[in-house]
Amino acid sequence: SARADSPSIKPINKGVVHRICAGQVILDLSSAVKELVENSLDAGATTIEVVLKDYGEESFKVIDNGCGISPHNFKVLALKHHTSKLVDFPDLQSLATFGFRGEALSSLCALGKLTVETRTKNEPVATHLTFDHSGLLINEKKLARQVGTTVTVERLFSSLPVRSKEFSRNIRKEYGKLLSLLNAYALIAKGVRLVCTNTTGKNNKSAVLKTQGSSSIKDNIITVFGMNTFNCLEPLNTNISDSCMVEGFISKPGHGSGRNLGDRQFFFVNNRPVDMPKVSKVMNELYKCSNPKQYPIAVMNFKVPTRAYDVNVTPDKRKIFFSDEGSLIVSLKEAIEKIYSPSHRSFSANILL
Ligand code: ADP
Ligand code: MG
Repeated sequence: SARADSPSIKPINKGVVHRICAGQVILDLSSAVKELVENSLDAGATTIEVVLKDYGEESFKVIDNGCGISPHNFKVLALKHHTSKLVDFPDLQSLATFGFRGEALSSLCALGKLTVETRTKNEPVATHLTFDHSGLLINEKKLARQVGTTVTVERLFSSLPVRSKEFSRNIRKEYGKLLSLLNAYALIAKGVRLVCTNTTGKNNKSAVLKTQGSSSIKDNIITVFGMNTFNCLEPLNTNISDSCMVEGFISKPGHGSGRNLGDRQFFFVNNRPVDMPKVSKVMNELYKCSNPKQYPIAVMNFKVPTRAYDVNVTPDKRKIFFSDEGSLIVSLKEAIEKIYSPSHRSFSANILL
């Protein structure tokens, strides 16, 4: 029922605002680990190790051999909207880094317990840093470590009671989603060794992903999915416009994956893993004619000038806003049609014989 007196409007407590917003940047386990892996890639790491305890429920950490963090940045490291990557609005148009909003570490502080170990090449020893829920640095101590950074998050979502329960209940599903995301980075990253291990209860550490840091998408596909899967793929290299091209691989006609839709479909824009539901739909439709029971496997990297799209659409940056998505879809459709056209199909069939 309507209330008789009009309530007064007051600002929400800063800490509460921080917690609410943090829950939008970090949606689940995979978006949390994604932010850390992208920070490592932005730091120029060539080895990245993701270490999970109880599938990430207890804790997760990302260890890298990147450039490290300078001591003069320690105090502001986990403060909201503090970043070394973006200074002014126009910079957004020419951004080459994954991060730019300075929200990840501050959000992780609000949602769990964040600690950082880091060392640059100018420091003789590393520093271990502890932060509180508002992102303030509360403790600092020296320790031995190679150049690089380790970020640890314990008990993600412990500050959001509802999400915390959901998180525990769905942890195996979240873990599966995380592995798929790590596969995406393993497919696209060139010259980066990616390792993921998980430890549960009393069991020993087990490696769930391990790549060599190959220098091509082709070799990455072989590492992640194996040679048999790779042999069922066809290269896709097409100019979409003067300034835009796509490179990658898709299933040969009749050689898809019988799994669920999207299970083995990976899309990237300038090496950034993104969701491209429209592209996926067009590809699936074309593929259906040759194989109605399966879905095509796809690894597609769109190389586009940074001014032609906007990643600043959703807090998790998975959605991309293209300035001319219509013509991109049309050109891509033509390229895929060629691969799935009957003439091309008989050609591949001949090769198989
Ligand atoms: P953003 O990536 O948008 O800048 P983050 O909150 O993810 O925001 O990180 C804040 C800053 O901390 C980064 O701009 C970077 O300078 C530093 N940083 C975070 N992780 C690492 C890392 N693994 N190696 C080096 N620097 C890092
Ligand atoms: Mg970041």
